[in-house]
Amino acid sequence: MCIFCQIAGGEIPNNTVLENDDFLAFHDLYPKAPVHVLIIPKQHVDCFQDVAPETMAGLTAFAQEVARTLGVDQTGYRLITNNGEDGGQEVPHLHFHMLGGGKLKWDHFHEDTHKNI
Ligand code: AMP
Repeated sequence: MCIFCQIAGGEIPNNTVLENDDFLAFHDLYPKAPVHVLIIPKQHVDCFQDVAPETMAGLTAFAQEVARTLGVDQTGYRLITNNGEDGGQEVPHLHFHMLGGGKLKWDHFHEDTHKNI
């Protein structure tokens, strides 16, 4: 079972922000911004490329509630998902990073060329 399935199932502890029957939001173990929360569907989906649009509808409403809970709904945030190898996805269970709590940089580099893309 993947690590985020184990977190969703309560087998691995997490620092929960918000939860309902279908989704879980918890603080990232290695935060890359003052606010860094992961949002996952409890049911396993490998990545964004595989997710059903209906799941995304529920996840959208849930993410908006997470933002309100964290107090970043008015100040702003970045919601991103890394998809697959080139996208830098390390955990093969769909998750969205909600980053905020301060102005974020925009510096995505291609590893080979080091050009801003
Ligand atoms: P990604 O590179 O998009 O797959 O992101 C995986 C994220 O999961 C990283 O930001 C990790 O810091 C985070 N992470 C890995 N294990 C845990 C864990 N047990 N609890 C919370 N966050 C985790």
